[in-house]
Amino acid sequence: AKGHIVVVGGGFGGATVAKYLRMWSQGSVDVTLIERNTRFVSCPISNLVIGGLQQMDDITVSYDNLRENWGVKVITDEVTALDPDKRMVTTARHGTLGYDRVVLSPGIDFIPGAVAGLDGNEELVPHAWKAGPQTALLRKQLEDMPDGGVFALTIPRAPYRCPPGPYERACLVANYLRDTKPKSKVLVLDANDEIQSKKGLFTKAFESYGALLEYVPGSKLEGVDAASRKARLEFDEIKADVLNVIPPMRAGNIAAQAGLPLINERWVDVEWLSMEAKGVPGVHVIGDAIFPAPTMPKSGHMANQHGKLVAAAILNLLEGKAPNAAPVLMNTCYSFVDDKNVIHVASVHQYNAEKQQPLPVEGAGGVSAAANELEGKFAMGWARNIWADMLA
Ligand code: FAD
Repeated sequence: AKGHIVVVGGGFGGATVAKYLRMWSQGSVDVTLIERNTRFVSCPISNLVIGGLQQMDDITVSYDNLRENWGVKVITDEVTALDPDKRMVTTARHGTLGYDRVVLSPGIDFIPGAVAGLDGNEELVPHAWKAGPQTALLRKQLEDMPDGGVFALTIPRAPYRCPPGPYERACLVANYLRDTKPKSKVLVLDANDEIQSKKGLFTKAFESYGALLEYVPGSKLEGVDAASRKARLEFDEIKADVLNVIPPMRAGNIAAQAGLPLINERWVDVEWLSMEAKGVPGVHVIGDAIFPAPTMPKSGHMANQHGKLVAAAILNLLEGKAPNAAPVLMNTCYSFVDDKNVIHVASVHQYNAEKQQPLPVEGAGGVSAAANELEGKFAMGWARNIWADMLA
């Protein structure tokens, strides 16, 4: 196969597709990866940084291997526009680039105006839902919080990036406070009516923190007063010392604003065999930005799987073949419930020709019987493996 593929976003989906296109084409396809950040910072394991168990360096990986080992042209820049008709992307500093096919894996962006008083105040009210400076900031605010303080965490309605992520964060913040500031409190304000992943296991974990952690379902956040760190709910107002708002989100701006078909005005609707946006040939979208198939989580593992699916599809399409036959995707998400013990959820999804989308394979996957230390080792192994799969 020959051609020039532009990949937008060097996260879990984008880095994977860039590497696998070069690997599977044995270097015959040219790949340009455009990513705004100079280094990759992982959301998985970032809750351990917030909980004081890992450092920023532990979750940061260079793009150098993609350049040196795989010959991917990595450009540090912002993609500002996409023209599917002319097959061109526009960047902030490197002009326009033409492509034969483009893959968008821009992750998520927060919906402007969704929470009154929040926009522009992410220094006072961090989200830490994109890893990087926000992760370090939330850690710092937690460290500076006095004993007896309230750490309030708000969760938006599903679907959002990483279903178990907020509950893992609540546990790891509580784990840190139990050791260092035991008079404090973690308040989990969930817009959903129940825990969204591994419910029984997280319920047990929450109980193990006693009065240190309170879970309040059905708590929709309406607004914040950022300066005083107040959260306004439908029937209540909460004053926090650290206010961690995970805002309502949608497909990353470049995908949400490129005129691609969106479901619920949020997520890109794709053809599952090629991952092309429906009705927009040549524009493939993967990762958190897409409308998921039934029970499919917005996860790094799943974005990595999408990356391989789309790499295979593109190489086939460049040779005039059908994109894919009947792909199978899988996912495992580990969550730390304290400094050692971990739980997982796993699933397998197989393409169903009649429904034209992947469906969960019954009897495959499941959850841990109980939190345990062995899975703590598996979780760190999973992270190191997937970072290497994308970026080594
Ligand atoms: P990302 O990985 O976010 O990559 C998007 C990239 O695109 C970013 O690097 C961004 O800078 C870049 N970008 C966006 N727009 C542009 C533009 N216009 N120009 C240039 N660059 C652009 N998943 C798991 O599988 N396991 C876990 O244990 C896990 N834990 C998590 C814990 C937390 C706290 C969080 C927040 C998430 C976690 N996730 C986990 C979810 C996982 O991080 C996401 O699902 C995954 O990052 C999605 O991959 P992606 O490629 O869609 O987006």
